[in-house]
Amino acid sequence: MNRVSVDTAGRPPSVDALARELSLRHSLPHALLVDFARRAIADMATTAPTSRVSVKEFADQLATEFSQSLLRDVINATGVLLHTNLGRAPMAMQTSNRASNLELDMSSGERGSRQSTVGKLLALLCGAESAIVVNNNAAAVLLVVAALANSRDVAVSRGESVEIGGNFRIPEVTEQSGARLVDVGTTNRTRLRDYKKAIDKRGNDIALVLKVHPSNYRVSGFVEDTPVRELATLSVPVAADIGSGLIDNTCPWLESRTPSWLSNEPAARQTIDDGAALVMFSGDKLFGGPQCGVIAGRADLIEACAQHPLARALRPGSTTMFAMQSLAISYLGRTATKDIAFWKMATIAIAELQSRAEKIITSAKTGEICTLDSVPGAGSAPGATIASIGIVLNGNYLSKLRMNDTPIIARVKDNKTFLDLRTIQPDDDAIVVQALQRLAE
Ligand SMILES: *Cc1c(COP(=O)(O)O)cnc(C)c1O
Repeated sequence: MNRVSVDTAGRPPSVDALARELSLRHSLPHALLVDFARRAIADMATTAPTSRVSVKEFADQLATEFSQSLLRDVINATGVLLHTNLGRAPMAMQTSNRASNLELDMSSGERGSRQSTVGKLLALLCGAESAIVVNNNAAAVLLVVAALANSRDVAVSRGESVEIGGNFRIPEVTEQSGARLVDVGTTNRTRLRDYKKAIDKRGNDIALVLKVHPSNYRVSGFVEDTPVRELATLSVPVAADIGSGLIDNTCPWLESRTPSWLSNEPAARQTIDDGAALVMFSGDKLFGGPQCGVIAGRADLIEACAQHPLARALRPGSTTMFAMQSLAISYLGRTATKDIAFWKMATIAIAELQSRAEKIITSAKTGEICTLDSVPGAGSAPGATIASIGIVLNGNYLSKLRMNDTPIIARVKDNKTFLDLRTIQPDDDAIVVQALQRLAE
């Protein structure tokens, strides 16, 4: 009989004894172990004896599950470059515990703005007059509509009144901003004259045309949208939610030409050149940065956003601002493929993936090489693929790989496990070798 789970009189163990027992195997705070012990003992009181594991086993299981759920590094072997479940763009954050000049004006010694320097770098990068950073792109759209169209109308094409990701829905964001949504055109086709008609009918009520890139889906067939170039001829400012955060579609930071998988992605610089008053995009998609959103464009409109009371609630902390600063400098210095993890994995040569895969297989003495298609992910460039090389194992090892000391997140199809080398950072190959060796044992 298990000493901890039930004593000789059949009584349940004490919470404290069980928690102490758990502390031998789990380095979690005592308060948590007490909670797991309590839950396990309560569970024993309510579950039929035949259908339960021992109290100790159950408490142990709760503690293990909790430990595994703690935030930590994982190896992305899915081939999805920007994996929503894995925090989108991977990046190292600044770790100094010193103070920073986040809001100190260095020339005057007075209170400054956290936005001014990073904003200048991002504006330069996008070819815009000004820019600010907020918590994510949803916040960027919310702030733009709230600051520029409160109690007024926002014209949106019926084909762009969309839902992107969980709960980011254009009609709801507009409503939350205190603006009224004016539907323009039809679901499949919206032309310039539809916008003109809406503006003429509503007179001065329309404050903004909001153009939304359909990031995570494609509509094909009899479809037409109105490009920013044409919208810019209207009498109201155009704000374009381009979503994915491609900075420039000529990709000057790459040695080779713009990869074909980016060919349908709108870019910030070109959207502004085409006449958008503002662009909004995510920091953690194709930009390759931390979770945040960028608003770039006309200085007066950016100023209106920055002055709006919501701006305070939506502002990012110093870690994000540090990261955005260093990324902007990498792009401007054209060192993005060296410095930015996303661009490194997006551009690594097939030959290099092939040689890494061969080395891993030789060392691990298991697995076979296969060709794979990586995908950009996070709703960027839907339908586009990037040729890649992977390792395939017979059988489903998803959960075993996930339980590795450094969890490895792979993909399964037809009872085969695939590890895509493109999304695995080369420094992690040794960990993959060890994990595969363990599977083969
Ligand atoms: C991803 C995306 C959003 C949401 O951005 P978050 O940074 O996740 O808030 C909004 N609009 C478009 C077009 C997107 O692609």
